[in-house]
Amino acid sequence: MQSDTSIRSVVIVGGGTAGWMTAAALGNAIRTGCTITLIESEEIGTVGVGEATIPPIRTFNEALGIAENEFVKATQGSFKLGIEFVDWGAQNHRYFHPFGSYGRNFDFLPLHQYWLAARARGAAPQLDDLCMAWAAAKRGKFAPPTQDQRNVLSTYDYAYHFDAGLYAQFLRRYAEARGVVRIEGKIAGVSQHSETGRVSHVTLEDGCEVAGDLFVDCSGFRGLLIEGALQTGYQDWRHWLPSDSAYAVPCEKAATLTPYTRSTARAAGWQWRIPLQHRTGNGHVYCSQFISDDEAAGTLMANLDGKALAEPRKLTFTTGRRNLFWNKNVVAIGLSGGFMEPLESTSIHLIQAGISKLIALFPDRNFDPLVIDEYNRIGINEFERIRDFIILHYKLTSRTDSELWRYCSAMEVPEAVTWKIEHFRRHGRLVQRDADLFGPPSWLAVHVGQGNLPEGTDPLLPLRGVDHAEYLAKLEAALARVSEGLPSHEAYIQQHCAAG
Ligand code: FAD
Repeated sequence: MQSDTSIRSVVIVGGGTAGWMTAAALGNAIRTGCTITLIESEEIGTVGVGEATIPPIRTFNEALGIAENEFVKATQGSFKLGIEFVDWGAQNHRYFHPFGSYGRNFDFLPLHQYWLAARARGAAPQLDDLCMAWAAAKRGKFAPPTQDQRNVLSTYDYAYHFDAGLYAQFLRRYAEARGVVRIEGKIAGVSQHSETGRVSHVTLEDGCEVAGDLFVDCSGFRGLLIEGALQTGYQDWRHWLPSDSAYAVPCEKAATLTPYTRSTARAAGWQWRIPLQHRTGNGHVYCSQFISDDEAAGTLMANLDGKALAEPRKLTFTTGRRNLFWNKNVVAIGLSGGFMEPLESTSIHLIQAGISKLIALFPDRNFDPLVIDEYNRIGINEFERIRDFIILHYKLTSRTDSELWRYCSAMEVPEAVTWKIEHFRRHGRLVQRDADLFGPPSWLAVHVGQGNLPEGTDPLLPLRGVDHAEYLAKLEAALARVSEGLPSHEAYIQQHCAAG
């Protein structure tokens, strides 16, 4: 039953990926007694990049009842088994950050401890070759994992690459079908209650006023409400993650549709390559202190798979987060809440996490500080643990060929990152922190891939009296054999979800 203090109106400011994901999820969760309005301005437009995701997005779509094949078809999507990192730890070196695990743990000690011991004896396969995601990815294969835990085909996970503009359109249809009302217009003013400081209404350029109880700020980098009106403040993390600019450009698709993202380190940043059904998305993320814009655009255009389909488009950003994600009656979701550089494709996930928390901690019109504090506490932890994982990639480089890489390998990093680096360096242990989004296999991939190899194994290992060398060899062979039997990524899409 509705109470006197129930929220009666939600206003979502912005119609980018964040705005429409929020509208779709709230439209699905709220069935009665509360209006949901979304305001967006075609003239201002959206950021229009953000094409790679991580596996939890599947949970978001499933919760909305969206069928995978329908979604992939509608967004020119493809499947992603992980990220290939090229030239990151050292030049002419590559490794894979897989979705899923390396074999399966079956002992007191994690499998990688046996791998480290075998490696020390010179008898270990490549670590990458012990994970199903890479076995399939390097052969250009894809099929969804099985549920049977005894089968190696259950040891991987997957996400998507998609056209973010098409995803927003898809979600718009979904949200409007559930009663969300869209208003086209540019917000010119934000008004606050004189006593509480809460936002009361926004005023459009044409004079129309839109009032609400709860406002979700999805206005992008501007942070129209959270910063423009409430002046919440921002923490700048560029001393740890110095990239502040990017050029993005689509190009013609390559002959093979690879089921993974590629990130190639460049002298002053890195370049992404994201294969979609109809084109390949590319971008060069860089630190403007170390390279000119012209050079950055030139590097991108010189390293495309095929003909560029547009002029390169420049974006600038400040990696960091808002001091609070929820302030008074405004919740900032998406770029208005902060910017995580796209190295591990986590921004859309952070949108999803913001929405899930909002639904789990949905307020009433009292806006209890207890609820708001809990939202911010979890959100800050999530943001900072992802930040730490991304910092790891920069810190663990042995490259000394350019200013950026010399800066990164020498920089001071947050205590939690040093803690994890030291634990792995000493005994190969993968210690976790609360709210870590990326689990032990992800950290293992980056530590090993970027050359943070342990001085010794877990002290328990020699006391176990087994070496499992035969198991490692069998696992490598099994993954190779099983992945050969999978359909190609292209064939899987043609059969199930071709965009046409
Ligand atoms: P926007 O897309 O900027 O949308 C803002 C909305 O607010 C628009 O609809 C706009 O019209 C509206 N608006 C603003 N001001 C007003 C006003 N005054 N009146 C009315 N409406 C207004 N994320 C990933 O998960 N994976 C990736 O691979 C990835 N790559 C990225 C690469 C780069 C270089 C960048 C910069 C970002 C990347 N991201 C990635 C992040 C991703 O693009 C964003 O998280 C996502 O697009 C969400 O943006 P948004 O909806 O918050 O903001």
